Amino acid sequence: MEKNIVWHSHTISREEREKIKNQKGVTLWFTGLSGSGKSTIANEVEYQLNKKGFHTYLLDGDNVRHGLNNDLGFSESNRKENIRRISEVSKLFVDAGLITLTAFISPFREDRERAKEIIGDFIEIFIDTPFEECSKRDPKGLYKKAMNGEIKNFTGLDSPYEEPLSPDIHIQTTQSDIEESANIVVSYLKEKGFINV
Ligand code: ADP
Repeated sequence: MEKNIVWHSHTISREEREKIKNQKGVTLWFTGLSGSGKSTIANEVEYQLNKKGFHTYLLDGDNVRHGLNNDLGFSESNRKENIRRISEVSKLFVDAGLITLTAFISPFREDRERAKEIIGDFIEIFIDTPFEECSKRDPKGLYKKAMNGEIKNFTGLDSPYEEPLSPDIHIQTTQSDIEESANIVVSYLKEKGFINV
């Protein structure tokens, strides 16, 4: 039996992880009003990418607000902390070589800029749907509640939404349907070399 066994350790780099996955890690940061279509479009993008064999993870209210950030409310300081933690988690996922999608209102420019600084590989996607259209859709009944005064600090009503000044991708959902919107995002990833199809 071999006496002197040499254990080889190997630290895998981000580059190697990306090569194995045939993609580059990046965060697709969806921003827009509640009900604008962030989750719906992000889910469709994820589905299209997964069908092509790419590796993704979608962070949204359902898996973040109820777990990692279940101690945070909707005050300005809590919203900031919410975005900061999401950014740090996204950064780790990007380092893992994943195409990370985040679907949060993220209403403040300063917070989105900070997210970009933390994450680095960051694509800002503005899901641009007018307030009137969002309140008409009202998929979760939140606009109705907010207008009845049951929810305070509601974005677009008694809390501001600062529109991105120069988003990487600008989608107007009153002009493109869910599939068309997702195609815009997937095409952008191809064009910029994040995925190879
Ligand atoms: P958000 O994540 O921004 O809060 P959701 O994705 O949960 O918004 O809700 C958006 C709602 O709008 C969904 O019910 C969706 O079916 C509907 N919708 C209608 N047209 C579009 C469109 N073109 N793009 C995205 N969503 C749309």
